[in-house]
Amino acid sequence: MKIAIAGSGALGCGFGAKLFQQGFDVTLIDSWMTHVKAIQTNGLHIDINGERCHLDIPMYSHEDIPNNDVYDIVFLFPKSMQLKDVLDYIKPHLSETSIVVCTMNGLKHERLIEQYVKTSQIVRGVTTWTAGIESPGCTHLMGSGPVEVGGLVPEGMDNAQTIVEILNQAGLNGTLSEDLHQSIWKKICVNGTANALCTILECKMSSLNESNDAKNLIYKITQEIVHVATIDNVHLNLDEIFEYLIDLNDKVGPHFPSMYQDLINNHRKTEIDYINGAVAKLGVENGIDAPVNQFVANLIHAKENKLDAQ
Ligand code: NAD
Repeated sequence: MKIAIAGSGALGCGFGAKLFQQGFDVTLIDSWMTHVKAIQTNGLHIDINGERCHLDIPMYSHEDIPNNDVYDIVFLFPKSMQLKDVLDYIKPHLSETSIVVCTMNGLKHERLIEQYVKTSQIVRGVTTWTAGIESPGCTHLMGSGPVEVGGLVPEGMDNAQTIVEILNQAGLNGTLSEDLHQSIWKKICVNGTANALCTILECKMSSLNESNDAKNLIYKITQEIVHVATIDNVHLNLDEIFEYLIDLNDKVGPHFPSMYQDLINNHRKTEIDYINGAVAKLGVENGIDAPVNQFVANLIHAKENKLDAQ
């Protein structure tokens, strides 16, 4: 079984490493040439929950994938705005039965992926693993999961079960989501509050709880997300979710979310259009107002401009 990681940044390298360690036939693919060359030359140096590993894992640049290579499973791990480019380069290496797994943050990636494969080939999900890149070829992976996945249509359920089994063999703690859309929208509540607000306020997650104004914003953003989620027949309890978010901010206290690290530390563009921006856009499409989410997305874009993010 041939597995490709299309988009091998922080989380892609992490998942690729865990699968490779378990003996799966894994190939990393990426378009950041400095990172590609570092792994091709020196292998992947990865810290997994404090354990340093050095893996000679196969790595291709997106332009050098052998023509005849066809992958049975492709994990998509680019940033959301890179997804189309990744699907374009991986498409010639997919068959009618390839399974395409997307546990990226953000809403409605399946709308784009469906332009490349049948809906039953897509396994969608969310993950609580966290990862980062120290330097090209040097990354870390932290956590214990889970990775919640599911099929988007009944014919896709067997594929989701296959992915759960593979994730579990690799120690990535896969679980079949009882309600895939609910899992996705719940993750949007986390990303839409902590990621966006820590980036705007330039603070760690626990600091949000120290300000009543910030907590009020968390409530308002979540209120809109919960309302827009009803378009997917997802009915989250606003007060329960709010409590969960506040509790999470305390639990992971000193953590700076990945959006903060991307924009503030590395001046990289963010996935805001696929999180708060997508909430506002889906709201407009369905006659539901989400002005706070739109304002947050605009603020992040203004900050991207100010920092000349690339
Ligand atoms: P990433 O930014 O580490 O990698 C994505 C792409 O960006 C890769 O192609 C990578 O090579 C490239 N890239 C990374 N740093 C670069 C640099 N300095 N210069 C040029 N190119 C660079 O992305 P990620 O954090 O692995 O996230 C992938 C997806 O998974 C996203 O949708 C993200 O929201 C989601 N996710 C990430 C985490 C996490 O902890 N990292 C957790 C949950 C979900």
